[in-house]
Amino acid sequence: MSESTLRVVWVYPDLLSTYGDRGNALVVERRARQRHLNVTRIDVRSDQAVPTSGDIYLIGGGEDRPQRLAAERLRNDTGLVRASENGAIIFAVCAGYQILGHEFVNDLGQREPGLGLLDVWTTRGEGERCVGDVLADVDPTLGLPQLTGFENHQGVTHLGQGVNPLARVTAGRGNGTGDGTEGAWRDTVFGTYLHGPVMARNPAVADMLIKLALDVNALPPADTTWYDALRSERIAATTRPA
Ligand code: GLN
Repeated sequence: MSESTLRVVWVYPDLLSTYGDRGNALVVERRARQRHLNVTRIDVRSDQAVPTSGDIYLIGGGEDRPQRLAAERLRNDTGLVRASENGAIIFAVCAGYQILGHEFVNDLGQREPGLGLLDVWTTRGEGERCVGDVLADVDPTLGLPQLTGFENHQGVTHLGQGVNPLARVTAGRGNGTGDGTEGAWRDTVFGTYLHGPVMARNPAVADMLIKLALDVNALPPADTTWYDALRSERIAATTRPA
């Protein structure tokens, strides 16, 4: 962490914040402040260079055209890739997750290169769009409680050998491959299909990113009343029989 200030970089709010993923930046900031940490949030628009000095990079979801523009810009900019090579923590949602992979299908129906930071690739699903609430059990090595979130995507993401699934769905579609996997991760790079925004429903995810940034195994306890209420409401709504 630089100069005892946690630097949270929100990548391309002008292109990739269609689905309320701004909430993730707010929750990471809030969870850090609850532990009396100094936090700076840096919002990087797509006409600005991505700084390489951030601790935690957040990337949201977006519609197909902005997703293509964001991928083009991030490939040319190279800041995010360099930050990742320096060990930065990256958490990306949906379109952002697809961009972290090797390729995805863009709004013109063409294969668009991603950044190759996660060993995944995304094809266009032939079936119905994956839309709805999700519940998922997280990779046990990450030690997180069940995830709750909302997915909305046409892309189907395939995982290579270089990543692990972030979680396995018990409700919803996740990566859409039919194998129950949801998201992917390796080292300090994470991708998920969950909006919600995911941190507001799962503050333990924000805490995990902060722990990685501080290089500690635990954080002081912090109140989760509001988050718990939202979690129980959404978990009950997702498991209730139709
Ligand atoms: N455009 C992508 C898809 O439909 C991502 C959508 C999203 O970010 N919610 O797969």
